[in-house]
Amino acid sequence: MKKIKIQFLGTCACDYSPKLENEFKKKFDFDARRSSALLVEDTILIDCGEHTLDSLDILGIDYNQITDILITHTHDDHFNEKHIEKIAKNRHVPLRLWLREDAEISDISNTELIKMKPFEKYELSNGLFVSPLISNHDPKAFPQHFLLEKDDKKIFYGCDGAWFLTDTYNYLNNKNLDLMILDATVGDYEGDYRMSEHNSIPMIRLMLPSLKNNHTINKKTKIVLSHIAPSLHKSHSETVEIAKGFGAEVAYDGLIMEL
Ligand SMILES: [Zn+2]
Ligand SMILES: [Zn+2]
Repeated sequence: MKKIKIQFLGTCACDYSPKLENEFKKKFDFDARRSSALLVEDTILIDCGEHTLDSLDILGIDYNQITDILITHTHDDHFNEKHIEKIAKNRHVPLRLWLREDAEISDISNTELIKMKPFEKYELSNGLFVSPLISNHDPKAFPQHFLLEKDDKKIFYGCDGAWFLTDTYNYLNNKNLDLMILDATVGDYEGDYRMSEHNSIPMIRLMLPSLKNNHTINKKTKIVLSHIAPSLHKSHSETVEIAKGFGAEVAYDGLIMEL
């Protein structure tokens, strides 16, 4: 069975880490997080925000190999038209840009805009499929989560969003995901006002047992926290210890996983 390769290019919420100013170019500084983005199979980019071109540069990845960009939503930390235009510029075949069906954006040259309907399944390339799921986040930014599938492998990408909307929760029943990447914008405390747009650590603690009970995840599923707000969390190493307590891992910029 072929593996799916993913690489975290950025793992930050929009309160960019103060460390970036001094240590932006460091390849692996776990506490210097750049704008949230994920590279799948070296060719499919999920989100292209403020720092994504820098992330690619720092990690030594040639952006000309990117064929498709999937957009979770149009907030600035996930969607930067100028950067997308730069990635699309040198391509012989237009870059495929995937957005929710009702998203309104201005034209970006050398891109083919593909509008996605929630819960439909689309083929990307090399046997990789994506299904957009509805997400609980700012509706003005046309938010969506993604389920990526290749052979029997399944990955959920849920940044940004809080909890699950009913149809998405039901859709994920019995999926027995291999990897679940969850929004963990807010740290390990209660009372944060963002509960209807982002997850906190206590919310994730509550969610995981229910997701296990409906077989969205199982004991083999990797749970990875991303979209982390440095101003709302302790250090990366402390967050790693906290996450271990409920069986989760914490993403950092540059992290590669093969499933
Ligand atoms: Zn965000
Ligand atoms: Zn957002």
